[in-house]
Amino acid sequence: MTILVTGGAGFIGSHLCSLLMDHGHHVVCLDNFFTGRKQNIAHLVGNPQFELVEHDVTRPFDFAVDQIYNLACPASPVHYQKTPVETVRTCVLGAINCLELAKRRGGIKVLQASTSEVYGDPEVHPQPETYRGSVNPIGPRACYDEGKRCAETLFFDYHRQHALPIKVARIFNTYGPNMSWDDGRVISNFITQALRGEDITVYGDGSQSRSFCYVSDLIAGLYRMMETDGFTGPVNLGNPAEATVMQLAQKIISLTGSQSAIVRKPLPQDDPKQRCPEITLAKEKLDWRPTVDLEVGLKKTIDYFRSVV
Ligand code: NAD
Ligand code: UDP
Repeated sequence: MTILVTGGAGFIGSHLCSLLMDHGHHVVCLDNFFTGRKQNIAHLVGNPQFELVEHDVTRPFDFAVDQIYNLACPASPVHYQKTPVETVRTCVLGAINCLELAKRRGGIKVLQASTSEVYGDPEVHPQPETYRGSVNPIGPRACYDEGKRCAETLFFDYHRQHALPIKVARIFNTYGPNMSWDDGRVISNFITQALRGEDITVYGDGSQSRSFCYVSDLIAGLYRMMETDGFTGPVNLGNPAEATVMQLAQKIISLTGSQSAIVRKPLPQDDPKQRCPEITLAKEKLDWRPTVDLEVGLKKTIDYFRSVV
C-alpha cells in the first residue's frame, strides 16, 4: 500500500514511517517542519519506498494513497502554545483535509492521532475512553485540547455522514529517540539537563503524575489500530505504569549518574494533576499492551540524547 503520514518528520511520525516501510509499504511523509526535523527522516530519504512532501496540513492536498495517519500537530505545550491560533487551525483544518482526501479516495481508512489531553485535568482516574473529560475551554492549553476534541468530532461526523472507516487513537505521554532535546517536554528536558549538569526543573511540587509509553510500543498500537476492521475507537494507547514528575526526575538523575540539582519552577496553568490510561479496550480489541518498562525505555532514550546534546 501507499500510506500518507502527516507529521511524518516529527518524533512519533518518523518512527511510524520506518515501521510502515519495514512492513513493505510506500510512505508519503507530509510535514511543514514546524517541530519536525529533517534529521529524523534522513535515513529514509533516498529510499524508493519513501517520499517527502513539504506542505502545511491546513492547506488541501491530494495523493494517490490507500491509508492516512494524521499526526501533524505540535505536541509539546511549549510549541502548541507559542502560536495557539495555528494550533487550532492545524487540528481542525488538518483533520478536514485528511478526511476529505479519504472520502475522495473512495473511503480509505484514516487514523487520527488524538491525545489524553481530551480528558483535560481529569476527575476520573485512570481515564477510560467513556470519560468525557474536564477541559478549560478558554485556558492556554485549550488550543490543543479543544482542537483535538474538535478533530475527534469531525472524524466521527465524517464516519456518520459519509461512512468513512475512521480510527481515533488517544495517545498518552510518549517518549524515546528522535524527541527534540529542546522541545520542552518533561523527559527531553530532564535528560538534557541531567546530561549537561544543569538544574532539573520540576514544575510545581512534582506530585503531578504522568504515565510514559516508549515509542516502539506506541507505534505498534497505532499500526494494530489501523489494521482492525470495523473498530473506530476512540482507544487509549499508553503505558499504565504511572510516575510522579518528582520520581521521574530522581530516576533520570540516577540513570545518568548526574550531579544535577532539582529546582522548583512555577506549575503552568491548567497542568493536569494526574494522568493514567485505562487500556482494557486496547487489550481486547487490538491485543495490544506496552512491553517496554520505564527504566529500559529511559536508558535507550538517554543513549540517544548522549549522541545529540
Ligand atoms: P512532534 O512535534 O515531534 O511532531 C509533530 C509533527 O507535525 C512535526 O514533524 C511537525 O513539523 C508537524 N506539523 C506540525 N504542524 C504541521 C502543519 N500545520 N502541517 C504539516 N506538518 C505539521 O510531536 P509528536 O510527539 O511526534 O506527536 C505526533 C502526534 O501525536 C501529534 O498529533 C500529537 O498531538 C500526538 N500525540 C503525541 C503525544 C506524545 O506524547 N508525544 C501524546 C499525545 C498525542
Ligand atoms: N514538567 C516539569 N518540568 C519540565 C517540563 C515539564 O516538571 O521541565 C512537568 C509538566 O508541568 C507536567 C509534566 O511534567 O506536569 C509533563 O509535561 P509535558 O510537557 O511533558 O507533557 P504534558 O503536560 O502535555 O503531559
